[in-house]
Order: sequence, then C-alpha cells, then structure tokens
Amino acid sequence: MGLNIGGVCPTCSAKGQAFGPLRCLNRRAVGRCRQCGQAIQSTLGWGPYLLLCVLATLGGPLLIAVFALALLSGQWLLAGGAVLLAWATILLPGELLHAREVRVYSLYEG
Ligand SMILES: [Zn+2]
Repeated sequence: MGLNIGGVCPTCSAKGQAFGPLRCLNRRAVGRCRQCGQAIQSTLGWGPYLLLCVLATLGGPLLIAVFALALLSGQWLLAGGAVLLAWATILLPGELLHAREVRVYSLYEG
C-alpha cells in the first residue's frame, strides 16, 4: 500500500511486518515474517483493543449503510469515500496498533 506502517521482525529485524487489515480487527493477530518466515504475533492490550472495538462498532455499520445507499443511488464518488473512510478510521488504526506489538509467536501467550 506504499505506507510503512508495519512492525519489525523480532528475529531478523526486517521492517514492514503487517498482519493484513482484517486480521488486525482481532485482539490477537498471527502471521509470518515476510523475510525469514518466523511465526510472529501481536496481542493488543485491552485499552487499544477497546478503542478499536468502539471504532468498528460505531463506524462500521454507518459506513456500510452510506456505502450501500451511495451504490444504489449511483453516487460512485460517495461510495468510494465511504470505503476510504472505513479504511482510514478502522483498518488503519488496527494495523498501526498491531505494528507496535510484534513479537515471536508463542502458543501459550495472549
Ligand atoms: Zn524475520
């Protein structure tokens, strides 16, 4: 996406480790390092996770409704704006929060 919002791999220090926007809606995201293949995870604290839940529950249905209405009435620009806004207010914060917490994957943690 061009933005460097990923975290740093704890094993090989490769930057740009992201979990994908939809996985970042969960409190715990699991993935693999793009460079060395190390299994990595990120578990949000309850504070950041609660913030993300509030953003998703308040903004999600509203933006989906705007998107659907805009599509039905043929207002493509508005539909695109709703998608962009959903990404900027829900998915992007999720990725940013998870990027700070990248650690080696542990089965017993989080
Ligand atoms: Zn790595």
